[in-house]
Amino acid sequence: MARFPERIQQLIEDFNTLPGIGRKTAERLVFFILKKNNAYIEKFSQDLSQLTGVKRCTECHNFSFVQDICELCTDPKRDKTTLCIVEEHHDLNVIEETGNFTGLYHILDGVLNPIEGMTEDKLNLKNLAERIRKNKVTEVILALNPDMQGEATIMYLNKILSQLPDLKITRLARGLPMGSDIEYADEVTLCNALSNRREV
Ligand SMILES: [Zn+2]
Repeated sequence: MARFPERIQQLIEDFNTLPGIGRKTAERLVFFILKKNNAYIEKFSQDLSQLTGVKRCTECHNFSFVQDICELCTDPKRDKTTLCIVEEHHDLNVIEETGNFTGLYHILDGVLNPIEGMTEDKLNLKNLAERIRKNKVTEVILALNPDMQGEATIMYLNKILSQLPDLKITRLARGLPMGSDIEYADEVTLCNALSNRREV
């Protein structure tokens, strides 16, 4: 005899697939939702199912809804000649929140970590050189975390990008503590790291 209806078990399993959500937390979340009214549950599931229309921007790999190119890449107010390379979407988000950057982004979808199978070919680099040429990019900012994987990725990117003509390659200033995550830096620290960026 099942303790709870099958659909509840199923949702607990779904939550359990999320990063950082163990079995107990998954149960707690599902029981929390079950105490809410139907309107809440309907909105929640609708918001979730609407994500199926979201895809990756063919230029920068940011999220885009229906359109092939995201709103940042198509915004005429953004400076196409400065390109900020980040590891993940949340890094783009924190840099946008500083309000201090007007260029475009390029999301790598990870950093080099050979032990975990993240090799050069897994990074989103296929169209990078082409983007730099097409947008007449003059500066690439390597906004990666100052940890071992981030440093290895900065070295690798510097090696391939330094072959392109007339391109300044910079990295965030040492305001960020070694081994720390851009994600957790406060806005002021990140703002300073961005404006005091230096050549690699
Ligand atoms: Zn884009």
